[in-house]
Amino acid sequence: MKIAILSRNTKLYSTRRLVEAAKLRGHEAVVLDTLKCYIEVTTMRPGVKYKGERIIDVDAVIPRIGASITMYGMAVLRQFEMMGVFPLNESVAIGRSRDKLRSSQLLSRKGVGLPITGFAHDVSNTEDLIDMVGGAPLVVKLLEGTQGKGVVLAETQKAAESVIDAFRGLKADFLVQEFIKEAGGADIRCFVVDDKVVAAMKRQAKDGEFRSNLHRGGVATVVKITPEERSTAVRAARIMGLNVAGVDLLRSNHGAVVMEVNSSPGLEGIEQATGKDVASLIIEFIEKNAKPHHTRTRGKG
Ligand code: ADP
Repeated sequence: MKIAILSRNTKLYSTRRLVEAAKLRGHEAVVLDTLKCYIEVTTMRPGVKYKGERIIDVDAVIPRIGASITMYGMAVLRQFEMMGVFPLNESVAIGRSRDKLRSSQLLSRKGVGLPITGFAHDVSNTEDLIDMVGGAPLVVKLLEGTQGKGVVLAETQKAAESVIDAFRGLKADFLVQEFIKEAGGADIRCFVVDDKVVAAMKRQAKDGEFRSNLHRGGVATVVKITPEERSTAVRAARIMGLNVAGVDLLRSNHGAVVMEVNSSPGLEGIEQATGKDVASLIIEFIEKNAKPHHTRTRGKG
């Protein structure tokens, strides 16, 4: 098979591992810089071009689209879908996962455990918004933040009001969330491939920090998850429509709650913490499923 990997940088761990795993399994792997791909919209003959050439004969595409280029990256991926190329994750599913509110709305409809979350535009609702999530301490987060940026813990009512005011002043979209204190600064990353949790790790925030992101100094260790956590992670990925996902859970007093479903989960942390060859499992999934026009949404929202 010929597998294209959309990635801005060939040197990134995840990109390197996917190329390596594809080659080891006898495939051709090409890395395309997402921002250097361009789109040819022509009736009946949609194409993607790269360095002056039309891309042809690609069987599958692995999108590794960073949050900062979501819009462009999804347009490129959608174009591959229009051409009938099998995407590891579909553009529509990635779009859902990139918006924390939209994801929570989809998950809540299906009864997945979530931290109580509020979203409001008008200032007159601030007080009730704070009450709704159980008062301070609470978490305020930017809708499209990543790696813990834009996630703020407001310890008191006053602090919560100030942070909300500040985000409003910046015209940023944010949500307000119940603080899961009992998680103790730890979360569980479940790596889901094809409706199975293939690896799981616990990330513990460093002292004095509640955000467990590895980019913020969190430390990862292998963890045994419960059957309930396993099924929550699998359901969350399925509801979002993601074949491959990093589902982040918090262990709350009322069971596992989903905090985020990541559509381009990194391989470095999880492979190193668990010793599992996740890259090969992803390639195996592609081998089993990559047929032309084999998508659920065909790029339609
Ligand atoms: P990002 O997408 O920027 O990583 P997250 O929503 O995943 O943002 O939050 C970053 C980290 O902050 C999480 O991994 C978790 O450790 C912590 N966190 C986020 N929301 C809560 C919450 N409601 N209660 C407790 N901890 C939280």
